Amino acid sequence: MRVDPRRMRERMVDEQIVARGITDARVISVMRELPRHLFVEEAMAKQAYKDNPLPIGEGQTISQPYIVALMTELLQVEPGMKVLEIGTGSGYQAAVLAKLGADVHTVERIPKLCESARDRLRAMGLFNVHVKLDDGTLGWPSIAPFDRILVTAGGPEVPPPLVDQLAEGGRLVLPVGPTHRLQSLLLIEKKGGQVQRREVCGVQFVDLVGAHGW
Ligand code: SAH
Repeated sequence: MRVDPRRMRERMVDEQIVARGITDARVISVMRELPRHLFVEEAMAKQAYKDNPLPIGEGQTISQPYIVALMTELLQVEPGMKVLEIGTGSGYQAAVLAKLGADVHTVERIPKLCESARDRLRAMGLFNVHVKLDDGTLGWPSIAPFDRILVTAGGPEVPPPLVDQLAEGGRLVLPVGPTHRLQSLLLIEKKGGQVQRREVCGVQFVDLVGAHGW
């Protein structure tokens, strides 16, 4: 890449993330450091810091930087927490969570994406990310409960296994909507055995496909 990725990343964070109200210093610092251009095809590297999602093959996309920042901020991840992500895709969001010190478990249903994300994360030395090929709407029962769960694809309902696998005091962030490619971003919290649900904003994600998806 001819342009300096560090400068592009600084601009991305200043203009797309800080200017739009993200304040979590740890999220901001991780996104300033993490080389997002290494999570897309080389031919696409120059566009990696733009204000939009990008294709990663197999009809899937890496989320827009602001959405990654927003979802990560909502999740309030602390070092050592057990985190589940559904929809590994490129592995970028998983890497952000790993850099925050979480023990990350991420599930992807498309074999090619699963493999390339696993290789990429390993090559970056992010050994605190575990990638599994499966239907993530079923969660990851053998590792549950999780302190935090993040879903980066949009389905028609909140998958019940994910609520079941959320620890007490846990937070679940996911897009849910009645139609394809248009959802509400939800924050679900488990407190005192009760499940509270809040709508954050409108979002557009690729389909969550599976037993509790489309
Ligand atoms: N978090 C990703 C972006 C994900 S795009 C990143 O940072 O790059 C959404 C991903 O969810 C796609 O890769 C898609 O294949 C995957 N997906 C959709 N339904 C799924 C399911 N039921 N289980 C696991 N992955 C799923």
